[in-house]
Amino acid sequence: MDEFERFAKKASDVFYGMVRKSGEFVENTKVTYNINLEKDKIIKLQNKIGAKIYKIYKDGGEYPEAFAEDLKAMSEIEDNIKTMEKNLNEKRAYTICPECSSKLGPNNVYCPTCGTKQGPTSTDQSTNE
Ligand SMILES: [Zn+2]
Repeated sequence: MDEFERFAKKASDVFYGMVRKSGEFVENTKVTYNINLEKDKIIKLQNKIGAKIYKIYKDGGEYPEAFAEDLKAMSEIEDNIKTMEKNLNEKRAYTICPECSSKLGPNNVYCPTCGTKQGPTSTDQSTNE
């Protein structure tokens, strides 16, 4: 083997080594993708199991004691959400007349107490003026 042949062989080895490596890279990427798909399935199943246990807890059924603390915490969070939503809906349900401070329904164009015409409120997105 002369100098050129040795060089050519070495270049060829490097080239095929790179092709093999990029093939491995593609293959590894596919495997990583499939691993992540499987991990997502586990997370979805864990969520499903959690939702089922929580439903049992809310329905007054028997649940493993080990879950008691988390179930209680979840229930408290749910109560907080309900309270916040209720407050938000109450705020949206009426406004206050700027003239006489009467409560006004969302569709009152004029204050029923003092007759002042009401402007569009900041929470009312439906007006096209
Ligand atoms: Zn008024």
